[in-house]
Amino acid sequence: MKIAICASEVVPFAKTGGLADVAGALPIALEELRQEVIVIMPRYKTIQENAGKIQSLKKDISYSVIGKNINPVTNTKALEKESKICNGVKVYFIENDAYFNRDSLYGDKNGDYKDNLERFSYYCRRALDLLKEVNFDPDIIHVHDWQASLIPVYLKTIYAREEFYKNIKTILTIHNIGYQGLFPKEEFPKLGLDGSFFGIETLEFYGQINILKGAIVFSDFINTVSPTYSKEIQTQEFGFGLEGILNKRRQRLFGILNGLDYSIWNPRNDKFIIKNYSLENLEEKYKNKEDLQKICKLPIKKNTPVFGVVSRLAEQKGFDILSESIGKICRMNLQLVILGTGDLKYHVILEDIVKKYPKIISVHLKFDDTLAHKIYAGSDIFLMPSKYEPCGLGQMISLSYGTIPLVFKTGGLADTITEDNGFMFDNYKKEELLKTMEKAIRVFKDKKKWLRLMQNAMQCNFSWKESAKEYLALYEKAKSQ
Ligand code: ADP
Repeated sequence: MKIAICASEVVPFAKTGGLADVAGALPIALEELRQEVIVIMPRYKTIQENAGKIQSLKKDISYSVIGKNINPVTNTKALEKESKICNGVKVYFIENDAYFNRDSLYGDKNGDYKDNLERFSYYCRRALDLLKEVNFDPDIIHVHDWQASLIPVYLKTIYAREEFYKNIKTILTIHNIGYQGLFPKEEFPKLGLDGSFFGIETLEFYGQINILKGAIVFSDFINTVSPTYSKEIQTQEFGFGLEGILNKRRQRLFGILNGLDYSIWNPRNDKFIIKNYSLENLEEKYKNKEDLQKICKLPIKKNTPVFGVVSRLAEQKGFDILSESIGKICRMNLQLVILGTGDLKYHVILEDIVKKYPKIISVHLKFDDTLAHKIYAGSDIFLMPSKYEPCGLGQMISLSYGTIPLVFKTGGLADTITEDNGFMFDNYKKEELLKTMEKAIRVFKDKKKWLRLMQNAMQCNFSWKESAKEYLALYEKAKSQ
C-alpha cells in the first residue's frame, strides 16, 4: 500500500511533543511491514543538515531520508533483536521562508503566530500538490492534528474533480483534542473554500473556524492515540466541544495506542546516558542516578527516591495540582527534578520554590533532549499526573528505563500503567497525588518489591510493530470502502 504521512513535526527534524515521535517512528515501522511510505512536513528554520542530509528537489521542495539501514532493537521479554534493514522513508519538506523560516514552529513568547491559518493552509495545499509533482499516488493520506487537517477538507472539495486525487482515502489522527486550530471567522476567505463550508455541519464552531473539526467531518476514518482516549473524547468532560461531532462519527472512530521507538529510548544503548544498563545489570542504573544528582546539584543519596518530570508545563500535564502541592512535596523525603517549558505561571512558581528548597528540587526550564534521557535513566520514579492524556510517551519511556511511573488514571496512562508496573490515582485531587507519592516512597524502601516493579516495567513492550499493524488494518479498511 502507498501511504503519505502529513505532520507538522517529525523526529529527527522538528519536535515540540509526542506528535513528532509518532510521525518519525510510524513511517519506519510501516516500511518494515513492506509498505511504501513518504512523509511531508514544513521546512522550518530549525531543520538543519545535522538531522540528516537534505537534498534540494525543486524550487520549494527538498527531502531527506529517515530510517535507512536502521537496526531496531525491541525490548521484548527475551530482548529479541530484529534485524530488518530498511531502505528508508523519504521525508519531503515544503519550503516557504516567509511562513516557516522562523525561530519556533507555532509561536513565540507573545503566543501563537498570528498567521498560523495561512501558514498551515499553505502547507496543506502544497502537500497535496507535491504528491502529483513527485508522482506519488497514495492509497492513503494519513494526517495528524489540526495543522494537517485541511488536507482531507481540500481533497474532498477543491481537489475532488482531479483524477489524480479521486481514489485517495484519508485518516485523521488526533493527538490532543485540546488543540483544534481555532481562528476568527473573518479569516475564512483565506482558506480558499466556498463560503458554504463555514457552517455547523462543516468548519464552523461557535462562530469561529475550527480546522480540526474540518478533518473530523471530511476524513474517511479518525483515530486517537489510545483506546481509552478515543472513548473519553466522546464525552463532555474530555471532548473540548467536539464530543457531539465525534459521537456522530463514532462508527469511524478508533483508538490505536502509540508505540515507542526503542531504538531511541533504550537504556541498553542510549548514547546520552553515563552508563548503559539493562535487566541483566540493573545496578548500573544507580550510576545514572548519581550522574543526575550531580548535574542537578542535589546531594548524592542512593536511598532517597528521585522523582523525575519531563513535560510541557501545562495544566493538562497535572501542573495545577502539582504546583498547588509543591511546598508539601518538597518537605517529603525525596528529590525532584523537573525539565520542561510552558505556561509562564508555572515557570514562576517553580523558580520560587527552587530558591526555598535547592537541595530537594532542581528545575530546568528549557527543552533539552540530552537531559531528558538522563532524567528517564537517573530517576527512580517518573511523575506524570496528567489531567488528561491522549497517549503519553513519558510513561512508556520511563518504563523502558526501569523508572516507575506515577500517573493519574486517564487516557493512554490508564491503558499502559497497572499496579504491577507503576502507581496510579483515580481521583484528580492534589491530596490523592500526595498520598500516591507517599505510597511510592514507602514502596521504594522495600528493595525486593522495588526490584520486581523495575523488572516488570522493563519487560513492558509497546513496540511500534504492533501499532503499525493496527494502522495498516485501518488503512485497509479505508481503502476497501
Ligand atoms: P505531549 O503531550 O507533550 O506530546 P507526550 O508524553 O506524548 O506529551 O510526549 C512528550 C515528548 O516530548 C516525550 O518524548 C518527552 O520526553 C519530550 N519532552 C517534553 N518536554 C521536554 C523537554 N522540556 N525537554 C526534552 N524533551 C521533552
